[in-house]
This record gives sequence, structure tokens and C-alpha cells, in this order.
Amino acid sequence: MKKSQLARIEKLISPFRITSGKGFRLKDIDPRSTGGLDSEDKDEAKEMLGRGVEWLAEQQDMLYAQDHWGLLLVFQAMDAAGKDSTIKHVTSGINPQGCAVTSFKQPSSEDLDHDYLWRYSRNVPARGQIGIFNRSYYEEVLVVRVHEELLHRQKLHPSLITKNIWRDRYEDIGNFEKYLDRNGILVLKFFLHVSKAEQKRRFMERLDRPEKNWKFSASDVAEREHWSDYQMAYEEAIRNTASKHAPWYVVPADNKWFTRLVVAAAVVDAMAALKLHYPVVGAVKRRELAAARGRLEAG
Ligand code: ATP
Ligand code: MG
Repeated sequence: MKKSQLARIEKLISPFRITSGKGFRLKDIDPRSTGGLDSEDKDEAKEMLGRGVEWLAEQQDMLYAQDHWGLLLVFQAMDAAGKDSTIKHVTSGINPQGCAVTSFKQPSSEDLDHDYLWRYSRNVPARGQIGIFNRSYYEEVLVVRVHEELLHRQKLHPSLITKNIWRDRYEDIGNFEKYLDRNGILVLKFFLHVSKAEQKRRFMERLDRPEKNWKFSASDVAEREHWSDYQMAYEEAIRNTASKHAPWYVVPADNKWFTRLVVAAAVVDAMAALKLHYPVVGAVKRRELAAARGRLEAG
């Protein structure tokens, strides 16, 4: 990728990247933002997205061949913010053998029998792989914080449910991400930041259009009633877990074309930093290849 292209990407994504939580406020990022691009730039943005997705596919092949690094992309959002479609677009060119998406819903009884990070750590991508978490361990400080009764279902001994439990969980999560970083698993976290008004519009569309009815769930409306609690929980979580090695991207999500562009650009940026290349074969392997060629040619 050319230097000028990388500089353009950096300019696009840096307003939304949080690497230190100090002073972070969710209200400083406008869900309606399109980063100064307007509807006339939309076609160019789509083209850029297409090129980015193509480039990612090439990089992923090298990631796989090198087998040193893994990439974990974490997606969090309120309902209807566009997690599914963003994941679909960003991974559209990627070899399915090198990529796995895991969606985390309510924990099973087996999950609840384990420490809370268990089900997530089992799904961390291997070296050479891209792993995508559609919801993640962050639910443990989001939905579980907003609905404290969920915490009481986690079979913890009452002595472990202290007033510091959320602070302790941010620390656990921070340590987990540091651990992954030290093992060569890069973590990027995306919060697709949709406005309450746009969520309503998308819910209405799900009710109005028969082909979208299946997407509607009554519980989504119930969760919407906890909007401000969720916003607070997101802000606190981001403040306490943003780091250089595992940055948060708070991506404006009222305009889907812009959301996809920023997410793809952030992944391109992270992969470019790895300076991936195909493994260079040594003298022994080269002799092996020459011998194989000789045998093939001989008949
Ligand atoms: P979509 O609605 O687009 O299909 P989704 O991710 O919202 O995707 P749902 O099946 O609607 O999937 O909801 C899953 C629910 O599971 C969410 O409300 C989420 O908050 C909840 N959930 C995820 N992790 C946990 C957890 N650790 N404890 C309790 N609830 C959780
Ligand atoms: Mg849902």
C-alpha cells in the first residue's frame, strides 16, 4: 500500500480511535458524522471500501502463510447499529478458511459453570487467522452491568460480588488483551455508535417491511428503554479498556456506508503495520524445489 494511501486512511480513522480512556466522552463523537465526506463522496467511499477489502484479502493470505500473527476484531453495538452488515462487507473478500465469526448470545448453562472469560478465550483466533466476535467479553460489563440480575445468575459466591466488581472486570479484560498482544494476537475493538433516533427509524423499517420483519424482536424495544444506562456502560467500558495495543474505534453508525469505510480502513491500517510478506524459503527448501522440478520434467 502506498504511503499516500496510508496517510489518507490515517486521517479518516484517527478521530474515532481511542487509545487512552482518560477524558473520553461518548458525546464527543457524533453518530451522524461522515468525517467531512458528503453524499457526493459516497461513490468514491464505496470504491475505496472495495479496494480496501481486496487488499485485506491479499494480506490475509500472507497472514496465513507467515503463521505468526492472529487478528481479533471485536464488534459491540446497540441493536440495529449494523454489526452484521458491517462484518459481512469487511470480510467479503476473505478466504473463509482463514476467518471465523463467533456470535455471543446469552451464556449457556455450561458457560455459566466457568469463569466468565472462558467461552471467549476458547474462540480467540489461532495464528494466521482472523477472528471476529459479534458481541464479546465486553457484554460482561455492558448487558450484565445494566441488568444486574444477570450477574447473580453467574454462580459467583456472594463474597465475590463486591462493589468493585466492574472496576475489577475492566482490569481482567485489560490483562486479557495485554496477554493476547504479548502472544501476537492483535485486538481491535469497534463500537458502532448509532443514535437513538436512527435506531428508532431502523426498528420502524423492520416493522414496516415484510422482508425485514424477521429481524424484529420485541426484546429490542425493551432494551431500548435502558438506552442511557447502556450509553453510560459503554462510556465507562471504553474509558477503562482503551489502550495502544487494543484500541477502541467509536465508529459513527447512522450512515452505513461511512461505518463500513471506517471499519475497513482501521483493519487495513492495523494489517499494514504488521508489514506482512510471504515467507522466504531458505537454501534447503530451494534445493528441494529444484529436485522436485527435475523429477517432474523427467517425466
Ligand atoms: P441480531 O439481533 O442482529 O441477530 P444480536 O447480537 O443482538 O444480533 P440477539 O440474539 O438479538 O443477537 O441477542 C443476543 C443477546 O445476548 C443480546 O441482548 C446480548 O446483550 C445478550 N448477551 C450476550 N452476551 C451476554 C452475556 N454474557 N450475558 C448475558 N447476556 C448476553
Ligand atoms: Mg438483537
